[in-house]
Parts: sequence; C-alpha cells; structure tokens
Amino acid sequence: MRFIVTKAGCSSERIGNLTGFVKCPNAVIETPTSGLFTQGGSIVHLTADVLARVFTNPQILVMPLTNSIQLETGVKAQNEGVTKFAGLPEHVACVTVNNFYETVPPGHFEPGKIPLWTKHGKKMITADKYMDLMEIFRPDMFLAIADGCMSVNETPKRASKAVERTCKLLNTCIDRYKASKELKNSALVGVVVGAQNQKKCDECIENILKHVDCISGVALEGITDGTDFLKEYTNQYCDIFKKVGDALPKEFFRILEGCWNPAMTLSAIEHGWDIFDGTYAVKLTNMGIALKLSFDVTKENETPYLLDMIDELYKEDFNPILKGCECLTCKKHTRAYIRHLLNTREMLASVLLSIHNLHHFDQMFIHAREHINAGTFNTYKNHITKQCDMLKELPKYRYKGSMNTPEKTNVHINKKKKVDVNSN
Ligand SMILES: [Zn+2]
Repeated sequence: MRFIVTKAGCSSERIGNLTGFVKCPNAVIETPTSGLFTQGGSIVHLTADVLARVFTNPQILVMPLTNSIQLETGVKAQNEGVTKFAGLPEHVACVTVNNFYETVPPGHFEPGKIPLWTKHGKKMITADKYMDLMEIFRPDMFLAIADGCMSVNETPKRASKAVERTCKLLNTCIDRYKASKELKNSALVGVVVGAQNQKKCDECIENILKHVDCISGVALEGITDGTDFLKEYTNQYCDIFKKVGDALPKEFFRILEGCWNPAMTLSAIEHGWDIFDGTYAVKLTNMGIALKLSFDVTKENETPYLLDMIDELYKEDFNPILKGCECLTCKKHTRAYIRHLLNTREMLASVLLSIHNLHHFDQMFIHAREHINAGTFNTYKNHITKQCDMLKELPKYRYKGSMNTPEKTNVHINKKKKVDVNSN
C-alpha cells in the first residue's frame, strides 16, 4: 500500500492518494476521507448491494476488533481475509482495536494486556494474540494494539502509563510484523497516545519514529473515550491535532479515531489528518438524526444542520431530508415518511437515514478536497464551523428519546457504567 500527498494546502491540510492495495489493485482512495464504520464486518444498516448503490468506488471499512473478534473462526476457516469473508472484497479493511462509537469502563489493565469490550463481555488481549488475529484477518491496514481509550481530561499520570504500555505493545507488534508472511501486504499503523502529558506523548512519537521502515501511517488515540459526541468545538482538541500532526513525518497517512462533529473534523483536516473512523454518521443515524450541512460557502445556512427526524415538526413535511441531495433516500422519500418509520421502529428507518447520512457526510469530504485544491479550505472550514456553532443554541430536548439501537447490543455499558450522550 502506498500513500502520496498530491496537494498541500495553505495550512497543513492536504490531499493524498492511497493506492497499491494487493487485494484491490485498482482502488484509489482520496484523502481526506471518512472510512465506513462496520459492526461484525458489515456496514451498519446496509447490505453489500445497497452499499454498492451508495458508493460506487472502494471505501475504507473501519473494523474495530471489539465488534468483529467473533469473526475469527469463520475468517480462519475460509483463509481469504476479513473483507472476503464479510462479502465486501472490493473494499479496503482497516482494523482497529477500540470502537470509539461506544463508551467503555476505564481501567481493567493487566501487565501486557488490554481489555477488549466485546458484546459478550470483557476479553483481555495481549499484543501476540492481537497479531495472531491480524494474521487471520489480513486487513489492508491495521492499527497497532495500544492503550488508547481515554478522555482528553485524564490525568497526566494515566497518560504516562498509557504511553509506557503502548510503546511496549508496539514493540511486540513490530517484531511480529517483521517476521510475518501473512501480513506482508498489510500496512501497520503506529498509535500515538498520551497527549495529556507532552513529554510522554513525545516519547510515544519517538518510539514510532524508530520504526519508520515498518510503519506506513499513524493514528491518534487517547483523547476521546466516546463521550465527546456533539461536544462544543474546543481549542483543546485543535491544539492536540496540531501538535501531534506537526510532529509526524508528512509521508505518513494519519488516522483520527473518534466521533467528531463536522467542525472538529475540519479542524483536524486543517492540521493534516487524513482518515476518520466514520462513527459520526452512524451515531446520528442511530439517534434518528439527519445531517444537513450547507456546502455552498456563498450562502448562510440559517436552519440547523442536524434534524431530529422524530420531531413532530416533520409529521406532514413532504419534502426530502435535503432538497437537491442526490442520495437514494432524498430522491424518493419524504421527511414525514422517515418520521413515521422511526416512530413505528421499522428497520427501514435506519436504512434510509443511513443512506442519506453516509452520502451527505461523504459530500463534506468531497467539498473539503475541492476547497483544498482551490486554496479556499479556510473559508469552507469557517462556513461549516459556523453551522456547528449555531447548534449550541438549540434546546437539548431535541436529542432525547432516540438513542435506541447501539446501546442495546452492549450489555457491559448498561451494567457497568451508565452513559448519557445527551448530557454532553
Ligand atoms: Zn439525501
């Protein structure tokens, strides 16, 4: 796999190409882009056939091990890698450890092991076991196992421990990676953690840079534990995106995990982050929310960029979610019909919302690339940020009562730590 920066913008924003995937030799993935978040190897709410109608080009499938580890036996028996097993061989797999869609309990570490919160409970996993799984999954790229699931407000001491653990785990991954025949076509991604403790974070980056011969990209973890969704735009995160981005070699592709709103996503792009994990669009869908950004920088968007589709307001609204949207949902269905499906808990509600949200979120990246090309990225970023800032003034009740699908599947969250996304 290769990553080439094809255009550098005015700040650190850039356009890049990912190519040379052995299993999909014709795939060219332009960055910045969002991957598609998967659950059990599938795109959440969409079959492969529907997906093919939403995206005609190969996509990065983001596969957290927490929700795909159960595929091990099947993938091993078939012996053709995880994308083939999941029926999505024309796409590119990126395996990660954690699922930043969800909030998990803190702690639970043992020497040399990290906890993996699967839907069947906690599994402790070593770097060696992780690499065994990667040799079975054979993804196009995978993140090194790391201690990366924590909030930006963790103590410097916790961050320091995370760095020590992450460096040790990476060193084991590197040794195994160098010796592995199965992983010769899989790109290894180093993970930076510890941004809460500058000195330790620098150590983490230094450790990654010792292995530039093996590592193709870097991911940033350890600044979100999944609870940051819809949080207001803060400079604290932007400073981290910048500091870590500036410390990394330009030739590495950079992955930012976490459920970031459009303003935060564009701030990360401004500081040179290339690939996002796709959890944002899925989270909106599962909350019954439709994304509706205005991309036209010459026009102010005076309406909210998120529509709570369960709202009474849409009961007799026979417009599409977004006029002019080219997605399959907006071409055929009205807001009133989607509201009806949500209220009657029909599965089709999530399918239709998912089609729109994934398409529209992708459009945000397409426009970002166009603006980077034209040297106008800053104008675009300000235009989108303004729309996100407006949302703060919306009453909170709009987001209540629609968190249904994801938490149901995660027994551990309900048992061990009750999380209310709406309280953010
Ligand atoms: Zn649409």
